[in-house]
Parts: sequence; structure tokens; C-alpha cells
Amino acid sequence: MPTMRKENPIKVLSHCRVCRSTQTRFVTDFGELAVTNQFKTNAEKAAFRQPISWHECGHCGVVQLTETPPLEQLRHEFPWLVYREPEGHLDATAADLIHNADLKPQHCIVGLSQDDWPLLKRLQMCSVQLFDPVLDLDITCSRYGMETVQAQWTVDRARRLRQKYGAFDIMVARYALEHAHDAAEFLAACQELLIPEGILVIEVPDCSQAFRDFDVTVVWEEHVLYFTERTLLQGLSAAGFETLHFRRVPDPLEDRLVWIGRTTHSTKAQAQPSAIVPTDPDVSRFAEQWPKQREALRVWAGSICKDGGRLAVFGAGHRACTLIDVMGLAEFLDCIIDDSAEKQAFCFPAGALPIRGSEALLDRKISYCLFAVNPGVEDRIVSRNAEYVANGGTFVSCYPSSSRALRLR
Ligand SMILES: [Zn+2]
Repeated sequence: MPTMRKENPIKVLSHCRVCRSTQTRFVTDFGELAVTNQFKTNAEKAAFRQPISWHECGHCGVVQLTETPPLEQLRHEFPWLVYREPEGHLDATAADLIHNADLKPQHCIVGLSQDDWPLLKRLQMCSVQLFDPVLDLDITCSRYGMETVQAQWTVDRARRLRQKYGAFDIMVARYALEHAHDAAEFLAACQELLIPEGILVIEVPDCSQAFRDFDVTVVWEEHVLYFTERTLLQGLSAAGFETLHFRRVPDPLEDRLVWIGRTTHSTKAQAQPSAIVPTDPDVSRFAEQWPKQREALRVWAGSICKDGGRLAVFGAGHRACTLIDVMGLAEFLDCIIDDSAEKQAFCFPAGALPIRGSEALLDRKISYCLFAVNPGVEDRIVSRNAEYVANGGTFVSCYPSSSRALRLR
């Protein structure tokens, strides 16, 4: 039976989450999606579904979720579910900071969350500290992630922490801003904590390649804001920060944008994007094209099943979950392949599909296995599954940047 997409009434975003402009524009509606960390056992009730759509700000340009899921739906209890962020570029980030902030031993640097420790430990020539989640951020739940930290980071709390510790010279908040439900408040809190002309270090994923490739796996309910280089600089400028240094860190799946700037308390600073990305990909074109890709992918998947073949997706992560849900693939899939024993004890959030180890590629006679993992690790997985390939199995990738990209049109 074909999957019917439920049409939701389009909610309106009354003001931009970054610059508070009321000039917001609806971009696209992805439907109601499973929350990607809600792994359930067979006995548990069906997962909560969250309407996910995008608006774009006409002023700062940031693409953002229209509605955010309730925080209690985002928190999970799985100790094995961790999101590892790349650290290979942190020596360069530390060097950029030392140079651009003219670091001195008497400078005080604070990190918003434990995710900031890998950079802070490279800056121990200064006084470095992390906020204590319980004593400083008043986080009372035992297991939490950035969804909780961002909610606690308010101007009032920053003011109290400034009274407790004194104003800081430098604040580091990596992998945080894209999670902020109210980024204007988040950035104002950073301003409140810092000395005049204090330094802020931000790192966010770059969504321009996903916009350009019509890659829906960029959608993640935990990411509220979808930056490109241009919109990051414009958004931070609108929030009263001046750019001192910017670095793009290339990645096969998604570049990272590292930004170092200082508080100006002026929203007149003109941020000029670097020459690397003269213009952003058009999100209207993304909105127009992804539903066509959905149809093409469903036709391809349907033809495999009709011919008696079997289809699986490799990688039980949030990107696979979004791919399956947005593209309506669950009805065509035999299983999700993932070698994490912890995940295999649960059903996958999208489609409640079984999660099996790579031996299932042969045991279940999977004809096509669709990668939803970083293209940078595909070769390693293929070489570990040489017998599957030798027996006629085929790996393809959902990412256009992969050499195994599935090209349907
Ligand atoms: Zn805006």
C-alpha cells in the first residue's frame, strides 16, 4: 500500500529565532517524523511523532524549524547513544584563538558544556573551566544532552554566573547554537557573561552542501537552526557580534563552520561572507526538488521489492531515521543494518524496523544496501563485507558526494 503523506496545516513562525525579525517565510514541510533517538522495544507503545517544517528568515537568512519538539521527547535514557563530534581540527582552532584573541595567561575561558572540554584542554595556558551542569546550569535530570543545556542558557542565568565567577574573557560553545530554540536569548546570554569586547567561539555544521544536494537527511529534530557560512555570519552580526576569524573544516558528509568573534553590542556590524561561498544554494529549489527525489527513490525501492529483491539501510542513526521517514521507505525495507549490539535490542524509530548486524546482509539475502553513514567510512564497511559483495550484494549511498551515490534521474 502506498504511503500517504499526511498534510498538516502549516504553522507560522511569528519571529526569527536568531534575530527576532518578523519577516519569516515558509520553506517546506517534511511531515510528522519519529524522534530519532526513540528506540523502542516491541512491547513499548508507538513513538511520538513531531511535525517538522522549515521557515527562513528574510533578515538574517537562517533556515529554522517552525516548531520544536517538547524537551522531554528529546531526552533519552540510553547511555550508549552518544553523538561524537570531530576533534581533528581543534589544534588549529586553538591556534586561531591564541592568535586572534591575543591570549594571555591571566585570561579566563569558560566552556558551556562538557563538549567544550576537548578545546579547553588545549588552552590550559590560561585559566579554563566548564560550567557545572548541576551547580551552575541547574540541570536536575540524570541524563541529558544539548537540548537541556540550551534551554538553561538564559540571560538571567548568565547574569547570576557573572556575579558568581566574574565576567569571562572568552566563552566556548561548540555544537550548541544549532540546538538553540531561542538563539537570540542564547547569544544575549553569551553577551551578558562576557567582558566588553569579550570573545565567543562557536562551531556549527554547515548545511549548504545538503541544501545544494537536496539532502533531506540534514533534517534532525535536535537541530533547530540550519546555518550556512553566510547566514551564520549574518545571524551573529544581527545578535551584536563582530567576526574576527572564520574557518571552514571540510568533511565528506558535512563541513563544520568555526567562528571566533567578539561582542560589540552593535547590530550594525556588517559581516562579509568569505569568497569561498559567494552565494548560498537556493532553499526554495531544495523545497521544490526533495519531493521529486522522494518519488524517484520510492519507485526504485518498489521495483526492487517487485522483482523479489530485498532492501536494507545501513546505519541506525538519526540520518537513516530521517531518510526513511521523510522519503517514505519503511514499507520497502527488510531491516536496518547496524553492528551496535545495544541498538539491535530495539526497533528502529522510523517504521519500527528490526535492527540487525551485518551478517544479515547475507542471511537475509539483501540485494541492495543503502548507506546512510558518512561517505568517509563507506570503504571500511564495504571491505568488512567483501563476502556480501562477492555474492552479488550491492552497496549504494544516499549521499550524492559518495562514489556509490544512487543516481535515479
Ligand atoms: Zn533572522
